[in-house]
Amino acid sequence: MEYDLVVRSRRAVLADGTRPAAALLPGLIDTHVHVNEPGRTEWEGFATATRAAAAGGVTTICDMPLNSQPPTTSVTALEEKRAAAAGKCWVDVAFWGGAVPGNEASLRPLHESGVVGFKCFLLDSGVPEFPPLEAAGLRSVLGSLAGIDALLIVHAEDAAEIKPASGRDFGSFVASRPPVAERRAIEKVISAAAATGARAHIVHLSAAECAAMISGAKAAGIRLTAETCPHYLYFAAEQVPDGATEFKSCPPIRDSVNREALWRALEAGVIDCVVSDHSPCPPELKSSGSGDFGAAWGGIASLQLGLSAVWTVARRRGRTLDDMARWMASAPAALAGLPAKGQLAVGGDADLVAFDPDEVYTVDPAQLHHRHPVTPYAGRTLTGRVRQTWLRGMPLLEGDSEAPVGRLLKRG
Ligand SMILES: [Zn+2]
Repeated sequence: MEYDLVVRSRRAVLADGTRPAAALLPGLIDTHVHVNEPGRTEWEGFATATRAAAAGGVTTICDMPLNSQPPTTSVTALEEKRAAAAGKCWVDVAFWGGAVPGNEASLRPLHESGVVGFKCFLLDSGVPEFPPLEAAGLRSVLGSLAGIDALLIVHAEDAAEIKPASGRDFGSFVASRPPVAERRAIEKVISAAAATGARAHIVHLSAAECAAMISGAKAAGIRLTAETCPHYLYFAAEQVPDGATEFKSCPPIRDSVNREALWRALEAGVIDCVVSDHSPCPPELKSSGSGDFGAAWGGIASLQLGLSAVWTVARRRGRTLDDMARWMASAPAALAGLPAKGQLAVGGDADLVAFDPDEVYTVDPAQLHHRHPVTPYAGRTLTGRVRQTWLRGMPLLEGDSEAPVGRLLKRG
């Protein structure tokens, strides 16, 4: 037989376990990335985000429908976004559609255009062009999506449980967005999913106390999944210095007791996947000059660092690369409906990552490919480093002469 590429490794993470074979980890799938292009390209962009992804072992990203302008709430907007991305992507890119008040007639056409599902908010999204759904709207959208078996992913925080926050104290910011805000919103999602039979997914779960409710819903046959993010698994609120707004996300990073409980929910399979929620902005919006947690943009940049950050903690907990491949590759690929992605298997795309699980390094923001190097991981010592990434067998980031080879994907 003839091969285009042969990769040899002593440790390869296959669908049925880790053993010697001609490759290592499957390329990761990050289903939660805010690229922000077109419209807020000064925040990130397809070229910079996908280079960061390639450097971090992520071979497919799914772009969020908001923060770009226009938001991806119609087929016309999706076409604009695909046009903006064309020819710039170093890894494969799929797209989420948005579900907002008044665009229910666009959901089916967007689904038929290949979006991997729909995102909605249950409170102010932070940008005026992407308003939230009310409880009745949520149920109505889930009813529509049930008819086409499309997935709804939900930013689940309840505004009624959130207080205004200001000042440089991270603890006050965390207290302003308590676990009950997530709980009340997730309750709404569960009841709407139960009533409609639709598939729903909780993005960026932070409040570990909600795991019991999610587990119960799953056990009852409700079609519910959940993700958490590297920053909730790596950082704890007690460590965040005053004014360090690079740590701000919504929902917030919580205390170390919560972090331990989140890990247990992940290890128990209640939380299905770990994805970045990479949501950068220009440094002046992130710090607002004064370190005020109320004023700063809520979003953490980690696309290039997620694998190392999660592995640093996971290996200490005795978890394996098989767990990593499930949480960060096969489960997100299944969530987004991308069957050629997320595992090393005959017939799948040859998206590969040579990963050294033992290398220790310190995060140097100058080495990040993100548009802006602002990240709470700056200066952290992480374990496990990506050595090489391949997309469909092609090595990425080998030299300056390369052209971007990423494709724009449709679901399925
Ligand atoms: Zn997000």
